[in-house]
Amino acid sequence: MIGYRVSCVCCDTYDPADVRKALEETLAHLNVSLKPGMRVLIKPNLMSPVKPARAITTHPTILEELCKILKAAGAEILIGESAFYNTDQAFGVCNIAPLSRYAKIINFDTEPTRIVPFEGKVGAVPLPEILFQADFIINVAKMKTHGLTGVTLCVKNLYGCIPGAVKQGYHKTLPNPRSFSRFLIGLHREIKPQLNIIDGVVGLEGEGPGASGHPIASGLIVAGTSAFATDIVAAEMMGFKPEQIYTNRYSGIRRTEIETVGSGREVRKSFKKPLSANFPYLIYFAGLLPRSRIHFTPERCVECGLCGGKCPAGAISFHPGPECDHQRCILCYCCMEVCPHSAVYLREHWIRRRLRDIAKTLLQVKRAAAGSMRRTFDE
Ligand code: SF4
Ligand code: SF4
Repeated sequence: MIGYRVSCVCCDTYDPADVRKALEETLAHLNVSLKPGMRVLIKPNLMSPVKPARAITTHPTILEELCKILKAAGAEILIGESAFYNTDQAFGVCNIAPLSRYAKIINFDTEPTRIVPFEGKVGAVPLPEILFQADFIINVAKMKTHGLTGVTLCVKNLYGCIPGAVKQGYHKTLPNPRSFSRFLIGLHREIKPQLNIIDGVVGLEGEGPGASGHPIASGLIVAGTSAFATDIVAAEMMGFKPEQIYTNRYSGIRRTEIETVGSGREVRKSFKKPLSANFPYLIYFAGLLPRSRIHFTPERCVECGLCGGKCPAGAISFHPGPECDHQRCILCYCCMEVCPHSAVYLREHWIRRRLRDIAKTLLQVKRAAAGSMRRTFDE
């Protein structure tokens, strides 16, 4: 039975007129009604202070056109974020600061917080009080791959509501993608954004979500009132099996329950997957295989120290360039996310690489065999 609707609208450029048209179409699909005087909080993805052209952060034109629509509806607008480091700098470099003519820009790192109890190892999480004072939350994610979780879309974007360095600590408490994804689901339960929009006009593929990924022209704006349903459809459009992503799998929502509408609903892209994205049937054995390892490219590294400062396991030391203690490393990918110079990469162990190649070949053979059987049957 259909229980969710996701809007998929083609949008090939960040030309303001194109973005405005796509956003208006999106809101019409989802019957979003905004009342004058509503306090609307926008949570973008401003992961780190990098230029919009890198496709790592939500593009400012998406946010600006959204602000204009909200302003016309008489809303009071807030834009809030806690970047991976230096949120104020991120507001500047990501070109968000000029939006202060429409919205109050809020650095979550310096806001009063509410301690929210969480089940399991985490115990409690500080969240900005302002999240609970908004009438309507719009979660504006970026369409990206992610080393730990496969993709980062609407549900993962809420991680940036947790202020400051507390965020990195959870990677140590919850080092594997399954426990981390369950934590993200708990976080979503507390924040409950009413509208979720993914900026997929230009996405990020490969070793995302930071500077090691590569922009891909995906030409889409995907949105829904359910963050999970929106992520399920977006993951499919990126070329993943939706259930490969743990937050999708644990959401309890099946793809068959989601109706898709809009000019882009048939679009399917093939985002290059991060090395760490396991084949679904190999995941159960992944822990038995030799681990992939974090390495650094000395020619690119400027020895800024950011990666060491953000490593929750204290696995990076400087001599004077960075070195990773592979025994301590929990493969959280924080160093890859934070490095502004693409100097951190994951080197896959050759056994994993071979197994992956074999699995790919088997998959191709299986698909070819299924295709030939179908043709025989049709004839
Ligand atoms: S690897 Fe990147 S983040 Fe780490 S010190 Fe070098 S440039 Fe800075
Ligand atoms: S070295 Fe990188 S991947 Fe390993 S624990 Fe530290 S930040 Fe995470």
